[in-house]
Amino acid sequence: MNWPEFEQAQPLAAKVLTSSIQKNRVAHAYLFEGEHGTGKRAASMLVAQSLFCSDIQNHGVPCEQCSNCKRIKNGNHPDVHIVEPEGLSIKIDQIRSLRAEFNKTGLESKKKFYIIVDAEKMTISAANSLLKFLEEPHLQTTAILLTEQPQRILPTIISRCQIVSFKSLPTKVMTEKLIEMGIHPTKAPLLSAVTNQIQEALHLEQDDWFARARNIVLKLYEVLKQSPLYAMTALQSEWNGHFKERAQMEIGLDLLLFIYKDILYIQLGKEEQLIYPDQRKKFEADAFRISAGRLSEQMTAILEAKQMLHANINPQLLMEQLMLKLQEGASFV
Ligand SMILES: [Zn+2]
Repeated sequence: MNWPEFEQAQPLAAKVLTSSIQKNRVAHAYLFEGEHGTGKRAASMLVAQSLFCSDIQNHGVPCEQCSNCKRIKNGNHPDVHIVEPEGLSIKIDQIRSLRAEFNKTGLESKKKFYIIVDAEKMTISAANSLLKFLEEPHLQTTAILLTEQPQRILPTIISRCQIVSFKSLPTKVMTEKLIEMGIHPTKAPLLSAVTNQIQEALHLEQDDWFARARNIVLKLYEVLKQSPLYAMTALQSEWNGHFKERAQMEIGLDLLLFIYKDILYIQLGKEEQLIYPDQRKKFEADAFRISAGRLSEQMTAILEAKQMLHANINPQLLMEQLMLKLQEGASFV
């Protein structure tokens, strides 16, 4: 995402940030809140770029060409730090080492910048440590906290941040926009289910990895209906090699979840909401066979597997267990 794309996707958030950058009144701490896929992380990187850019354009827009902009984009600028959950949480040691880092002066300038991803995952002690840090006035230090769940962040932290809300585009509107832009109507709903950013959707549409992911997931679902043993084989021959990293696994599990959602939509008579409209015939047959109760168990099992991804669990084992849970009882309904 570049700055013009950010302005287009999140006009309000972009306006707030542009105006404080232009007036040189950037807050010490921001809280970017909004649903998954609304571009919070990409926007926080753009703000970092506009603060460090050595060739700033009009309206505080970063050039994206200078060495500072490039290093920020590549994640190797010495004065820009990103803290992310390790396992299930952000731990006090992570905040402590951040504070230690910031007690040194800026390596290249006096400015320092840090981003805390999934800030609601800070442990209580980590949050309290961050709170002390926010209370100490550090000139030219900017913090951006990102969260999908602001209600889970300590109010004392929130009160020290300027809140910037990222709005999600309703799925239906997003799908319509994509179709207008030339995306095939059978593909647009899945893209809007995966991301809330037009640019990312357009990119995914061209992405071979994503196209294969979709096929692997649909095939796995078919095989799973026959036998869990076949599903295990499919995991080994295709899934494990394709969904290697955690972020990829998350997409894979989402794609699987959407199948069960579609079956539910059919049961509820909401066919217009189908995420895989081209699979409708097959799913209709399944919607007859599976009870609503069983369907909800299967969806819960997938959501639980997604949660477990963040704990240090062997992903292959996780998938094998999921296959058994999804299969279990399916032939008896
Ligand atoms: Zn620049």
